[in-house]
Amino acid sequence: MKTRHLLLAGAVALALSACGKSEAPAPAPAADAPAAAAPAEAPAPAAAPAEAAPAAAASKPATVENCATTIESNDMMQFNADSITVPASCTQFTINLKHVGKLAANVMGHNVVVAKEADMAGIAADGAADPATHVKAGDARVIAHSKVIGGGESTSVSFDVAKIKDGGPFKFFCSFPGHLALMQGSIQVQ
Ligand code: ZN
Repeated sequence: MKTRHLLLAGAVALALSACGKSEAPAPAPAADAPAAAAPAEAPAPAAAPAEAAPAAAASKPATVENCATTIESNDMMQFNADSITVPASCTQFTINLKHVGKLAANVMGHNVVVAKEADMAGIAADGAADPATHVKAGDARVIAHSKVIGGGESTSVSFDVAKIKDGGPFKFFCSFPGHLALMQGSIQVQ
């Protein structure tokens, strides 16, 4: 019904403009598609499985056993943990790093570096010059670092826990160029 009124109005406007030079404002075309008829997209079932993945921002503590932990890295530029708690009873600690992806070390290489959070960006920036380790030789800010590995490879690095007891906060991270933003986590003694 509304459409008919609009059509009528349009006809009148046309008639008016035909009579004189004055240009009648063009009648707005009737908004055709009724918005109310939007297809009802069923929302995803709300029932979450018991072991739902935690939200991205949630802390993913590494599993620590016998003064060691194993961290996985992948082709998506991710570690599978963002926090390592080293037991205060440990004198040495070992981080095992696994690359569970497929990409080669020169494309998606990963290492694990331990340092003060304040030194992290500088270590990564200076390490860019060395494509083999992505850590500058003799960088005194580096507490410990592993070699760089590619898909399917593993490595590990051990260090004195005393070195991360005071003066933190400390971080573990990947110094491969561009990876720091996503591949880092906290490491603390407790
Ligand atoms: Zn990396």
